[in-house]
Amino acid sequence: MPEVAPMLIVGAEQAQVEVELLGGLLGCRSCRGVLGPWGHGRERVLRCVEGDRVLRPRRARCRGCLGTHVLVPDVVLLRRQDEVAVIGQAIEANVAGEGCRSIAGRLGVPADTVRGWLRRFAARAELIRAHFTRCAAALDPMLGAVLPAGSGVADALEAVAAAARAWVLRFGPGPVWRIVSRLSAGGLLCNTSSLATTA
Ligand SMILES: [Zn+2]
Repeated sequence: MPEVAPMLIVGAEQAQVEVELLGGLLGCRSCRGVLGPWGHGRERVLRCVEGDRVLRPRRARCRGCLGTHVLVPDVVLLRRQDEVAVIGQAIEANVAGEGCRSIAGRLGVPADTVRGWLRRFAARAELIRAHFTRCAAALDPMLGAVLPAGSGVADALEAVAAAARAWVLRFGPGPVWRIVSRLSAGGLLCNTSSLATTA
C-alpha cells in the first residue's frame, strides 16, 4: 500500500476544489503527478467567525505515485480547531497591544487556547518572519526590504502582511489569513520545520 502523503492546502470552496480535482488541475506534492478523487477524509468541526462548521475534507490519489493526499481547505491551520481568520485576529490584536484575556473574551475562545496560539507564534517568530519574507520576495521581485517593526512578533506579522499583499498583487484579492494558510502549507503554528521547506 502506498503511504499517506502530506496534506495539500486547497481553496475552501468545495465546488471549485471538485472542479480542479476532476479536471486534473491539482498536482501531487511528492512527485508532481496529477491527483484524482479518492473519497473523503474524516469529518471535523471547525470553529469559525460565523459559528461552527463541519468540514469533510476531500481525499485525492496521485495517478503517478499512487500516494493519497488529504485536501485541507485554506480556512484551517493544521492541528488547530479554529478558523485561521480567528487565529489571525488574535495575533494581530496581540501585536497591537491587546491582552490575552480581552482577546479571548472578544473572540469567544478559551483564554488558554488564545495563549497557546500567541505563545507558538512568538516562539516561531523568527522562522515565520524569514519564511514569509522569502514568500513576499518570490511573489513580488520588485518588493523592497521588509522593514523592522520593533519586536520579534511585530516583525513576523509585518512579513506575513507583506507576503499577503504580494500574493494579492499577483493573484487578485483574497482573505489575508487564508492566503497565510496557503503560504505556510497550513503549518503556521506547527511545531515542525514545514515552513522552511514550503517557500
Ligand atoms: Zn505522486
